[in-house]
Amino acid sequence: MKNLQKLIILTGPSGVGKGTVVKEILRKDKNIWLSISATTRKPREGEKEGENYYFLNQEKFTEMIEQNLFLEWAKFAGNYYGTPLSSVKERIKKGFTVLLEIEVEGAKQIKEQFPESLSIFLLPPDKVELERRIRNRGTEKEEAIQKRLFRANYEISLSNQFDFELTNHNVDETAKKIVKLIQT
Ligand code: 5GP
Repeated sequence: MKNLQKLIILTGPSGVGKGTVVKEILRKDKNIWLSISATTRKPREGEKEGENYYFLNQEKFTEMIEQNLFLEWAKFAGNYYGTPLSSVKERIKKGFTVLLEIEVEGAKQIKEQFPESLSIFLLPPDKVELERRIRNRGTEKEEAIQKRLFRANYEISLSNQFDFELTNHNVDETAKKIVKLIQT
């Protein structure tokens, strides 16, 4: 793949607001295409196949790993998540800037494979607020919440391994800063 300065990685802990920031980024710059990941996690209420994720069973996900169909994949809080290679390649070829909204292990894999990609780590304004957001999502059982909280601390400890660290005080401001980083 060529032209990988067109590959943008947005990472950061669960609950930091990556999804909301991504929506705002896509609204501000129509040349940015968001990669849709595959996951073995069950859909949350309102989530749609092919829109939020491609929801796969474990067998199918493992098959895709074996066939090298992922650009990267990682296990997160008991489930698998991966970026399908073919659609990313296709969009880059068409001249789009491709945005990956992924957790840290996948983000590190991409940065190692493609050092010219741009990686951004989103930090919460404070950890108390982050815990409140993870809990208030209301879609996860206590066990899953505990896994996500534990994982959030680990992820935050790695934030300085990425090109830019941004604190998400305000969605619009954060999205503006990211679009500026992408466009310069
Ligand atoms: P959620 O279950 O809350 O939708 O996502 C859990 C975590 O997995 C989030 O940090 C999200 O960014 C990350 N994630 C989503 N898709 C992918 C992917 O394709 N690869 C990796 N490595 N992480 C992903």
